[in-house]
Amino acid sequence: MPLTLTVDGPAWRAHLRTVEKGHPGLVPVAKGNGYGFGVGRLARRAAWLGVDTLAVGTYDEVAGVSSRFGGKVLVLSPWRDFERVTSYDDPALTRRLIHTVSRPGDLPLLLERSPRARFVLELLTSMKRHGMTPAELRELRERCSALGADTLRGLRGIAVHLPLAQGSHLGQLERLLNAVVAARLPTRTIFVSHLTDDELRKIAKAWPDYTFRPRIGTDLWLGDRSALRVTATVLDVHPVERGDVFGYRGRTAPKSGHLLVVSGGTAHGIGLEAPLGELSLRSRAASIARGGMDAVGFVRSPYIIDGKHRLFAEPPHMQASMLFLPTGAHVPAVGDEVDVRVRYTATDVDRVTVT
Ligand SMILES: *Cc1c(COP(=O)(O)O)cnc(C)c1O
Repeated sequence: MPLTLTVDGPAWRAHLRTVEKGHPGLVPVAKGNGYGFGVGRLARRAAWLGVDTLAVGTYDEVAGVSSRFGGKVLVLSPWRDFERVTSYDDPALTRRLIHTVSRPGDLPLLLERSPRARFVLELLTSMKRHGMTPAELRELRERCSALGADTLRGLRGIAVHLPLAQGSHLGQLERLLNAVVAARLPTRTIFVSHLTDDELRKIAKAWPDYTFRPRIGTDLWLGDRSALRVTATVLDVHPVERGDVFGYRGRTAPKSGHLLVVSGGTAHGIGLEAPLGELSLRSRAASIARGGMDAVGFVRSPYIIDGKHRLFAEPPHMQASMLFLPTGAHVPAVGDEVDVRVRYTATDVDRVTVT
């Protein structure tokens, strides 16, 4: 068996439903590796949830969701004139796609390519990733006035991407909303990312004429970790004695035990994690004195065997990894499943099993 994500279906779906009920106007985010599930699967789940809009990260991800989810598809990466956008020649997709415009000069260019394009205007936050400052928003407004009343007919809202919680976002959001009001833009929909539930309640109360639509990925798809489990399969087991040579680089076993070959490697995003413990000379010396494996250059792996994170015997291979299991630990058999603690957003599993 390959690297597998096993999902407790009823628990996962119940969690998704709870998040959807608790966040009116929810825009689920499905991007990248699909938070471990794959973007296509999340698109089908979004359809099942009944939301009207799904967000993807990039234009390249649109095709993977647009056939599985029938609603609007919001692209989070801002439009640039070098993007390959498949909707330009497809009226049905043009109606469903919502672009993100983050610079005043981009809107006229987008409308030149796609006159009926739908779009949101992104405002720069303290993230400083993409977006317009209040002055740029005014500039955009002036350009639109010069270009004609129709220029803003595709406007579907304002987008605000806040950093992950660091104190309250409300002061910043208030300032941005005042800039929106000052620019007299014909929309009252604000797409927000990374507001806490409490902040969402407060801002909705303070700005009752506006609709706030939270864009949520992690807390939606991965919010109930107890419903999720990643496992690898033990593919081979070899006993080794101290001094035995193994691996691509001809390492020697520092003591006796077993080498385990397990599924999952660099192609899955299994990487070397931080070395065990502190790296000070003193702690390394202490570790050597105890016969610690990390002192001889072995690095902690995300594989859990017999209740412990085990050490990589050498850097992960493309689709498998070699672990060292010291004498004394329970040795799993070929075919056994072992738990793997990975970051879901950085791991591509071979198989997703929903129970
Ligand atoms: C990825 C992303 C999100 C979703 O982030 P999570 O932390 O996974 O909820 C929201 N907004 C934007 C702009 C993003 O790029």
